Amino acid sequence: MSVTAIRGFNDILPGDTEAWRHIEQTAWSIFSAYGFSEIKLPIVEKTELFARSIGETTDIVEKEMYTFADRHGDAITLRPEGTAPAVRAYIEHKLYTAPVTRLYYTGPMFRYERPQKGRYRQFYQIGAEVLGDESPRADAETLSMLMKFFGTLKVKGATLQVNSLGDASCRPAYKKKLYEYLKEHSSGLCENCLRRIETNPLRALDCKATGCIEATRNAPSLVDSLCEGCATHFDKVRYFLKLYGIEPVINPRMVRGLDYYTRTTFEITADTGLGSQNAVAAGGRYDGLVSELGGPSTPCFGFAIGIERLSLLLERSQVPSSPLTVFIALGIDAEKKGVELISLWRSSGIRVVEDFSTGALKTRMKRADRLGAAFAVILGENELAEGVVTIKDMKNAAQETIAWDRVAGIIGGAGK
Ligand code: ATP
Ligand code: MG
Repeated sequence: MSVTAIRGFNDILPGDTEAWRHIEQTAWSIFSAYGFSEIKLPIVEKTELFARSIGETTDIVEKEMYTFADRHGDAITLRPEGTAPAVRAYIEHKLYTAPVTRLYYTGPMFRYERPQKGRYRQFYQIGAEVLGDESPRADAETLSMLMKFFGTLKVKGATLQVNSLGDASCRPAYKKKLYEYLKEHSSGLCENCLRRIETNPLRALDCKATGCIEATRNAPSLVDSLCEGCATHFDKVRYFLKLYGIEPVINPRMVRGLDYYTRTTFEITADTGLGSQNAVAAGGRYDGLVSELGGPSTPCFGFAIGIERLSLLLERSQVPSSPLTVFIALGIDAEKKGVELISLWRSSGIRVVEDFSTGALKTRMKRADRLGAAFAVILGENELAEGVVTIKDMKNAAQETIAWDRVAGIIGGAGK
């Protein structure tokens, strides 16, 4: 029997993990400069939390959740997203006693989707939530932070698309208008949308089926139906975005796949070369969710970045790397000195492994090469007597004799 991974549950291997770490560290250093603090959230929650917040008629809740009965028979779900857990924690720990709470998190999410490049059943997100701020400046500043993050990572062609989904005072009328339009154009709609338009016609705008895209092409636009409060908010978001030097694309069809959004929604797309898997970050305002889940009325704005897709966009030359050195001792005395030298180099953060094999130096050098070494450091009897080592640069095969106290300066980073 051979053992393989469950489809869509990926291993992230060395070579890629360095890019992930760089992405996470960059996010963390930028987000913390904007006042965000990290929260660590559980991977499982009660199913009810997601059903109530994401919405019963969304794709996620209808067909994508990993839901189990635990040993007690309680329905639990592997989190498909992080906003609902963050809001649950915000209410549970009364974080709302602070006027504004800015949270940041990262970790795996789970959705039973059709696995393909850029779309997995376990995938990783970096998420951030601003809870307790109703100002359109919060939307614009958070979006500018996100654009700064993509800029710092030198992601090419990151485009911000925004829309407004209105709120409880204007969306119902729009829903009715859209419903009537869809009834007239129902012949092209997929079966799922035909059923959903009765309760949630907006879902048809988010459906990826060709027939639904076609049928909704000339559907009435939500942006034209906003009430005064929502229209002003949307105008201000765009005004403040300009202050940050950002010119978004207005996409009136973008309704997002989660029901809790109100007012501003957005997506950042980039050329991933993966067709419809081109959204690398998405989010928006959710002013009704905290009270919906039993907390005090709290306006919020948040987003999530997909790490797999972002890592595809990241040029590997952007990722800081530290070279590996393989240490080769020839003889017992050299081994003894080696223990001391290696320990010293490691203390200054240099990556060094010792080759414990015996045999011809030529064979050992080949092993060092296969280990991916940037340098081989050789300590033989002669070197030991003179207080030096021989350093071989594996890339160009250049060899030098270097005094012990100068070795760290050479193997510690020069070979990036
Ligand atoms: P899509 O439209 O691509 O399905 P989504 O609207 O479902 O994305 P969100 O729930 O808003 O996405 O999640 C935010 C980001 O997380 C997406 O922009 C994407 O980068 C990433 N993401 C979502 N689902 C997956 C997945 N199954 N595999 C990998 N990344 C994903
Ligand atoms: Mg999706």
